[in-house]
Amino acid sequence: MRILVTGAAGFIGSHYVRTLLSGGYPGFEDAEVTVLDKLTYAGNRANLPAEHQRLSFVEGDICDLPLLLELFPGHDAVVHFAAESHVDRSIEAAADFVRTNVGGTQNVLEAVLRTGVERVVHVSTDEVYGSIAEGSWTETWPLEPNTPYAASKAGSDLVARSYFKTHGLNLSITRCSNNYGPYQHPEKLIPLFITNLLEGRQVPLYGDGKNIREWLHVDDHCRGIQLVLDKGRAGEVYNIGGGNERTNLEITHTLLDLLGADESAIRRVADRKGHDLRYSIDESKIQQELGYAPLTSFEQGLADTVNWYRDNPGWWKPVKHGAQSAAR
Ligand code: NAD
Repeated sequence: MRILVTGAAGFIGSHYVRTLLSGGYPGFEDAEVTVLDKLTYAGNRANLPAEHQRLSFVEGDICDLPLLLELFPGHDAVVHFAAESHVDRSIEAAADFVRTNVGGTQNVLEAVLRTGVERVVHVSTDEVYGSIAEGSWTETWPLEPNTPYAASKAGSDLVARSYFKTHGLNLSITRCSNNYGPYQHPEKLIPLFITNLLEGRQVPLYGDGKNIREWLHVDDHCRGIQLVLDKGRAGEVYNIGGGNERTNLEITHTLLDLLGADESAIRRVADRKGHDLRYSIDESKIQQELGYAPLTSFEQGLADTVNWYRDNPGWWKPVKHGAQSAAR
């Protein structure tokens, strides 16, 4: 079994590959893994085991179709994580998001088609659904993205759907809620707040802090992706969530408690443009069809994540303060 994983120098893809290589997914213990990653500011070579025998690392861009056509033959499956992933950056500069998330995904699918790779999982996000005031999204909910990031992911989902409908590609899509865990870039809310507090700095809280997100530990997300890769049906979308809905203010207070800080560490900042109020996922399909269940409780997962950042300043300080290229 040979699996090609795009974007696996980033947060979630690297967790998936580390787990895969350590034998964490039954039936895939001998998998050979090729990682294709452009090493943007978000990619970090140090997120992957340097010299693992079953890992090959290729630095390259998913927008480079000739490279994909050279690389893909001989692989049994592609798990596609590569994306521009930070909403705030998409508000300032959307072009890279459309280029990589829409154009790059189309290239990946085209290369899968032309080279005869048998199976693809396209990793997407619940943000494609927009914002929901009450209830939870099922997979048939309309796509109503509100930010350039979410719109580019929705575009990639529709391109993926078209490659299933038109070409019959053996493809499934996952849509997951917000992830947290080790190795997440400190531009994202939870690691930004943890690392600021570890440095004795304030944390910037958007608006009134009442925006609600559903949180899932990265390990549970990756297990869901693996289940979909192994047993998911072609042409289907699978939501992956954890049921842990929290306001940003609640998350902030929990982190203040875990790090021994008080209210004075909160700095209120103007709300994010297009800030979705609430995300909530109905994940009954993946539970009933594939037997998925998250294993990490939010309280334990968050405490472990705080400890990981406390114990690993050598990882996050260069990433946060701009010397990341030295860590590649
Ligand atoms: P990340 O930003 O940490 O990592 C993205 C990786 O993709 C980086 O290693 C980067 O170098 C690589 N990359 C970017 N552009 C590339 C290109 N053109 N060619 C090749 N590689 C490129 O992102 P993440 O948080 O690990 O997210 C991974 C995937 O999961 C994304 O598709 C994202 O939309 C999705 N997702 C993320 C979350 C979350 O909470 N982080 C939730 C649901 C879904």
